[in-house]
Amino acid sequence: MERKKTKARLFVAAHLAARETVALGKGKSHYLGNVMRIGVGDAIAVFNGRDGEWLARIDRLDKRGGVLFVERRTRRQESEPDLWLAFAPLKKTRTDFLVEKACELGAARILPVFTQRTAVKRLNVDRLRATATEAAEQCERLSVPDVAEPVALDRLLADWPAQRRLLAPVETGDGRPMIEALDETSVASGILIGPEGGFSKAELDVLDKLPFVDKVGLGPRILRSETAAVAALTCWQAHVGDWRKQITR
Ligand code: SAH
Repeated sequence: MERKKTKARLFVAAHLAARETVALGKGKSHYLGNVMRIGVGDAIAVFNGRDGEWLARIDRLDKRGGVLFVERRTRRQESEPDLWLAFAPLKKTRTDFLVEKACELGAARILPVFTQRTAVKRLNVDRLRATATEAAEQCERLSVPDVAEPVALDRLLADWPAQRRLLAPVETGDGRPMIEALDETSVASGILIGPEGGFSKAELDVLDKLPFVDKVGLGPRILRSETAAVAALTCWQAHVGDWRKQITR
């Protein structure tokens, strides 16, 4: 299918099909009109995570909102890697960075988790969802990763699906090299990144006892949490994920 660059690409919640109209709220209208300088008659790309990507034309756009007219599909919805990223919240800008990169690197779900040494106690999940949406629009994903409400580590582990491998990077040296662990990893996986202070001894003991957890190493240097997240996601995508697929544009 043709992938022509449009001036803007928007995530919408509405159903997408030929000749549908999609109402735009004030925020999106302001973005299109005043930030992107797009006007009536211009075409943009829209996606909703279910119906692929569509070319839509601006039918109306003013201060109160706007209307899009959906013309034709430009990309089919494709299956995406089944990779979850759990991470201990960091300071604001580092958390934003991590969520943006997790989206670009194809995480399907982003799960904030409070651990014993997590310094940050509160998290603005709505802001993270907005960050994830913007990143998905920009990187041409066909879906927006789901950002979950934060939970405590013991809750995350208690609710974790037993058949999904959880790769837990640890800097302690007692994890297998990540690439080796990936040789035995099936497609549905998760990655669990600790806080700046690392996991506590008690948490590491708990992780050791869980059959679905694999402690892994990411080399000899101590990485910042957000670096560890980017590195682990990259490693997974390159080894078992969609970086192995030939892409066409
Ligand atoms: N406070 C610790 C470092 C924690 S690094 C210390 O100073 O010793 C933050 C998180 O990044 C860790 O919990 C781990 O999940 C990940 N991490 C950092 N470096 C790593 C490495 N070399 N291998 C695997 N995981 C690493």
